[in-house]
Amino acid sequence: MYKIKQFKQIRQNAVQSGKIELLKKVNNVLLIELYNNQSMTIGYCVKCRDKRDIQGAKPYTMKNGKPAVKGTCPTCSTAIFRIGRG
Ligand SMILES: [Zn+2]
Repeated sequence: MYKIKQFKQIRQNAVQSGKIELLKKVNNVLLIELYNNQSMTIGYCVKCRDKRDIQGAKPYTMKNGKPAVKGTCPTCSTAIFRIGRG
């Protein structure tokens, strides 16, 4: 189990020094950790217009280096995207 706090520090250093590749790697680790802790599986379904557990939620890093989660709505199978680390 990684220490999330430690990675957040590394992440901040990566942001400050402009190391995008490192930032992406750290983001992915953080996202996996957060995902494993099930703290970011809730997203907003635009079709249901309600919050849903994201089915098959997978963390990923967007092209701009920001973390996000994608999956589907368990009720209507619409794709749910969630930007952020929760
Ligand atoms: Zn839905």
